[in-house]
Amino acid sequence: TSFGFKNVADGDKQPLVNDVFHKVAKRYDIMNDVMSAGLHRAWKAGMVGALNPPADPDYHVLDVAGGTGDIAFRIVDASKGLARATVLDINGSMLAVGEERAQKKGIAENLTFVEANAEDLPFPDKTFDAYTIAFGIRNVPHIDKALSEAYRVLKRGGRLLVLEFSEVEAPILDKVYDLWSFHAIPRVGKAIAGDGEPYRYLVESIRKFPNQKDFAKMIERAGFSRVKFTNYSGGIAALHSGWKL
Ligand code: SAM
Repeated sequence: TSFGFKNVADGDKQPLVNDVFHKVAKRYDIMNDVMSAGLHRAWKAGMVGALNPPADPDYHVLDVAGGTGDIAFRIVDASKGLARATVLDINGSMLAVGEERAQKKGIAENLTFVEANAEDLPFPDKTFDAYTIAFGIRNVPHIDKALSEAYRVLKRGGRLLVLEFSEVEAPILDKVYDLWSFHAIPRVGKAIAGDGEPYRYLVESIRKFPNQKDFAKMIERAGFSRVKFTNYSGGIAALHSGWKL
């Protein structure tokens, strides 16, 4: 199945992606719950549990495509309020929602918000202890560039964690998921956010993203060691992990 975005080559998709997230920024958090039936919360908890950030004010995580701040907030919480996180996103509308949420939660001091592109990070080499990206890398036009930037800004011994929709394993679950994602998600998106098209794009982008094994190879090609992945909910999502050694 193809939707309105089918003629856009991957390298040119950034303006569409930006448009999608400008449109949904204010409703993004509620949409996430509805679209994933709340599952994204467990997946995100799994990611932050795998990171296991220390209660150390010198520990600094870069959360790329951080959007409205979910992952960064969880990292700060998990570190007993001590770690620092830089939330980077290409979209100012998403970051604005994130900054407001951070103020309300009283953790703005731990956080820095930066508007920039994952393909061209505005930080020196070897700056961060960890790099996280949740449901963001499939939106980046040149994934290899984003991964090599991740490698560059990590310190030696630094950790990469990527949470992304992935390839569903069980054939029956696959069919159910197809129905849900192609038919229900854009309709629900339209009902809540007033526009189904952005969600069609999102579903389409999940289709095109490499499966677990292929993505693991891309991470290795960027220079990371000990690359492995864990499936969540039968592969609807997967967490990839790698180290800069
Ligand atoms: N990480 C958050 C979460 O899990 O809730 C937000 C994920 S949201 C689905 C994807 C985010 O990727 C959007 O906020 C979008 O603006 C951002 N994004 C898309 N392309 C990007 C790029 N090239 N560089 C940085 N961020 C990008």
